[in-house]
Amino acid sequence: MKARYSVVVPMFNEEEVIRHTYQRLRSVMDGCGDTYELVFVNDGSRDRTAEIMREICSADEHVKLVDFSRNFGHQVAITAGMDYAQGDAVIVIDADLQDPPEVILQMIDKWKQGYEVVYAKRLKRHGETLFKKTTAKLFYRLLRNMTSVDIPTDTGDFRLIDRKVCDVLRGLKEKNRYVRGLVSWVGFRQTSVEYVREERFAGETKYPLKKMIRFALDGITSFSHKPLKIASYVGFFLSFFSFLYLFLIIFQKFFTSWNVPGWTSIVGVNLLFNGITLMLLGVIGEYIGRIYDESKDRPLYIVREVKGYPGEYTDHKGEREAQDNVR
Ligand code: UDP
Ligand code: MG
Repeated sequence: MKARYSVVVPMFNEEEVIRHTYQRLRSVMDGCGDTYELVFVNDGSRDRTAEIMREICSADEHVKLVDFSRNFGHQVAITAGMDYAQGDAVIVIDADLQDPPEVILQMIDKWKQGYEVVYAKRLKRHGETLFKKTTAKLFYRLLRNMTSVDIPTDTGDFRLIDRKVCDVLRGLKEKNRYVRGLVSWVGFRQTSVEYVREERFAGETKYPLKKMIRFALDGITSFSHKPLKIASYVGFFLSFFSFLYLFLIIFQKFFTSWNVPGWTSIVGVNLLFNGITLMLLGVIGEYIGRIYDESKDRPLYIVREVKGYPGEYTDHKGEREAQDNVR
């Protein structure tokens, strides 16, 4: 029997590239010898992305479109794509052609050999700023050291996952999603293929520094409690030295005649300690904020319209169960 693949493509303001991406994906997937669907998720683009996609979708039955009511973020868009995907294997790829679609065929080969997760490891990254490359590299190393989950370094979300894995991921309801971490966390037989990350085909990165920092924090807080532990280590360390210092000044007061006003040192120590306290409170705040997000239990995303599935199903609530109505 023929296998069926779903290619999930998150898009945010990608009007300049989306036609090319569609063409490339089609020509690659036409060559794979099995059936496939292309699930495009429009993550609240403010340009003509949705319009263009609607056109493509009407002309090609391989194409499905999930249109969000606003921008929910890259990781959520990927999750929605997985929710709607119906294939035996699901491939996630960026819309900007930085991940060459041809690599999908290598992934499929590995999948046919029995692997359940095939992630693409970047050998090189072309056309990205030195700043981005260095921060990314540092971040992946830091994450690796902080977590007990074996998250592979230098891999993005470009990967293939088996239906089984996709179903398990769909069952994980957490809101602050760091998809590549979750994929590592679930286990299964995993392997990698290597590739060279290309330059963006057109347009600009949709990950400004602010989003990158948030993304990094999601990655770390989802998989590690270490930052919280740092608070207690620092506290312990400081108390220990404060005690020593206390003994020293008591000794000075009673047994020596050395008696300096010491304004500078008091202000200095105060500033330092207040800084540290605030920083550690901030760390705790990051976690509490995320706990709050989880407890509100709002849907992960809201869908305005789904196109390309039989019956032109439309859903305004767009909860994750949406897919069960589509099937
Ligand atoms: N993206 C998205 N929602 C966002 C930001 C990005 O769906 O809020 C998509 C974007 O259209 C692209 C992918 O996520 O397909 C990766 O984004 P980008 O290429 O801008 O990130 P970079 O490659 O620079 O890290
Ligand atoms: Mg990109």
